[in-house]
Amino acid sequence: MAINVGVLGATGAVGQRIVSCLDNHPFFELVYVAASQNSAGKTYEEAVRGRWLLDQEISYNTRNLIVYDANKICHARGNCGVVFSCLEMKPDKLRELEESYARAGFAVFSNASAHRWTKDVPMLIPEINSSHLKIISYQQKNHEFQNGGFIVVKPNCSVQSYLTPIHALISAGYPVSAIDVVTLQACSGAGERGIRSLEKLMQGLKLVEMIRNGNLDPVFVDHVRNSPDYDNLLDITNNVLPNIVGEEEKTEREPLKILGKLENNEIIYNSDIRISAQCNRVPVMDGHLACVKLKFSDKKPTLEEIISIWRGFRAVPQEYELPSSPLQPIIYLDEEDRPQPKLDKDSDNGMAVTLGRLQECPVFDIKFVGLSHNTIRGAAGGNVLNAELALKLGYF
Ligand code: NAP
Repeated sequence: MAINVGVLGATGAVGQRIVSCLDNHPFFELVYVAASQNSAGKTYEEAVRGRWLLDQEISYNTRNLIVYDANKICHARGNCGVVFSCLEMKPDKLRELEESYARAGFAVFSNASAHRWTKDVPMLIPEINSSHLKIISYQQKNHEFQNGGFIVVKPNCSVQSYLTPIHALISAGYPVSAIDVVTLQACSGAGERGIRSLEKLMQGLKLVEMIRNGNLDPVFVDHVRNSPDYDNLLDITNNVLPNIVGEEEKTEREPLKILGKLENNEIIYNSDIRISAQCNRVPVMDGHLACVKLKFSDKKPTLEEIISIWRGFRAVPQEYELPSSPLQPIIYLDEEDRPQPKLDKDSDNGMAVTLGRLQECPVFDIKFVGLSHNTIRGAAGGNVLNAELALKLGYF
C-alpha cells in the first residue's frame, strides 16, 4: 500500500518537480500540498496557474488538492507522515519549521540548506553515503523528535554533477587530495525568478528573429506585452553572472560531510581533501555543468581505468532497484563535445550524472566535465530517491 506524503513549497520550481515525480509513484501517494499564505486556500491548479513550469500536465489527482499554509503543521497532521520540504524561506525560520514537523512525527526530506550543517542530520546522496542514515536514531534522541520523526537533507544542486564520480574513484582505491571545480549553473537553480529571467531572454530573441524575418506575430507580441513583470530578474541576457550567493562556500564544504565517516554516532567530515570552487550562473534553463580537476593522494589510475570504474559503478539504489534510481548512475560519453545540458541533462529520467572530456591535466592529475539535471537529480528526484531508500531500509 502506498504511503501518504505531502510537499511543502509545492508551488515552486522544485516543488512542481516533486509533485510530478510523485505521479503514479509505486511507494508514495501525494495527498497534501502546502506553500505560502499567498497560495493557501486555492486549489493546486489555481495556485500554479500561469506559473506551471513543466511540459507534462498536472495529474488529475493533484489538480484539486487544496493548498495549505506550510507554516501551520496542524493541517498536515492526520493527512500524511512524510513531507518533502522545498520551501524558500529565511534559513533560521526554515530550520525551526522543519524541526517542528520532525518533532510532530513527520519524516522530513528537505531540499533546502537550512539543516545541511546540523551535526546529526544526514546529507545524503544514496550512491555515496547511505550508511549515514544510521545517525537518525541519535538525531531523534538529541532533538526529542517524537513518533518516528526525523530530518534528512540533500546537498546543493551542483554537487551531484561531479561528486559521485569522485566517490567512485576513491572507493576503487584511488584517494583524492584536491578538487578544483568551476560550475556553470542553469537559471532554474535560482527558482522561479531564474526561470522567468531566462524566459525574458528567450522572448527577446524570438522577437528579434521575427523582426528580422519581417514576420511579427501579433499574438506573440501581445503575450510578451501582457506577461507579468517579475521583481528582481537576473541580468542573464547576453551575460554570465560570476557570483551565486553562498554557492562557492556550499560547494567547498558539503562534499566533505558527504564523504565523511560515521563514527561513534557522529559524522566525521573528510579532512583529506581540499576543494576550491567557482560558481557561475549561465543562460541555460536546466542542467548544471561542472569543469573538474583532481589530484590523487598517491597512486594515479590510467584514463582507461577511470572510464571503466565510472562505467561499472553501481551502488545501493541500483542494488535495491529503487524506483527513481538510474540504472547506470554514471554515464561516460566518448564524444569530444559532450556532455551538453541540451542533449544530456535528461539521461535516465534526469537521474544519471553524465561525464565526458576526461584528460590528463598538466597542473592537477586529471580533468573532466560533469553534468546533472539540477531540478531532478540535484533537487526533486534526488530528494524522492532519499525517501525511497529510507523506506526500503525501514526508517519509516
Ligand atoms: P521557488 O521556486 O522560489 O519556490 C519557493 C516555494 O516556497 C514556493 O512554493 C513558495 O510558495 C514557498 N514559500 C515561499 N515563502 C514561504 C513562506 N514564508 N511560507 C511558506 N512557503 C513559502 O524556489 P525553488 O527553486 O523551488 O527552491 C526551493 C528550495 O529548494 C530552496 O530552499 C532552494 O534552495 C532548494 N533547491 C533548489 C534547487 C533548484 O535547482 N531550483 C536545487 C536544490 C535545492 P508560494 O508559491 O505560495 O509563494
